[in-house]
Amino acid sequence: MSDVLMIALDGPAGTGKSSVSRGLARTLGLRYLNTGAMYRVVTLAVLRAGVDVTDAQRVADIAADVDLAVGYDPDEDRAFLAGEDVSFEIRGDEVTGGVSAVSAVPAVRARLVQLQRELAAGDGGVVVEGRDIGTVVLPDADVKIFLTASAEVRAQRRHAQNIANGIEDSYEAVLADVKRRDHLDSTRAVSPLRAAQDAVIVDTSEMNEAQVIDHLQELVQQRAGAHR
Ligand code: C5P
Repeated sequence: MSDVLMIALDGPAGTGKSSVSRGLARTLGLRYLNTGAMYRVVTLAVLRAGVDVTDAQRVADIAADVDLAVGYDPDEDRAFLAGEDVSFEIRGDEVTGGVSAVSAVPAVRARLVQLQRELAAGDGGVVVEGRDIGTVVLPDADVKIFLTASAEVRAQRRHAQNIANGIEDSYEAVLADVKRRDHLDSTRAVSPLRAAQDAVIVDTSEMNEAQVIDHLQELVQQRAGAHR
């Protein structure tokens, strides 16, 4: 176990994972690392190179050379490709549509997992958000949390978020995308989405964001306190 507090926060899309991870990092005064953003930056690099996201060899070549960076500030979830701020662009439909294929390529995962470990080990405690943090990236994390919620609740949340961001799409389309990504993420050969054996599973279907953050803060205090 390291001297600094490492919190692994995993779960599928739409569980409130990003806002909750940022809120928890802010409340506990920790750094925040968004690993999904890193897969999204690689996907953007692939798309900009005009490469098909299902061409695993060329995707791997791009991942090997990609110049990506992400911030640690929970108040500013920033991502950069070759120094350019692409925080907004990586949330668009094109990247969202291609990211599962890109993140299923073993060489992409190997490169990003290594980078994520280096970034997590930086100065001070950290909340690391993703899909395989408790199982693969930080198997020795002090606290592992796996957020869940029904596919319908997750689709409702994403749909409301999209509307708030001026993105017009139907609830049915969002639900189909949530299910499609769940399936791809949980059935891929390398690092499928699943809870670590020692993770605490928290169902957020009936909780609002503040309630989840409060609950997790208590969990961290209990678990991290018990380790120290
Ligand atoms: O968290 P976010 O929805 O931005 O992640 C985008 C995609 O990146 C996920 O659907 C998943 O395919 C991939 N991902 C992953 N492993 C992680 C984080 C994200 O495979 N640790």
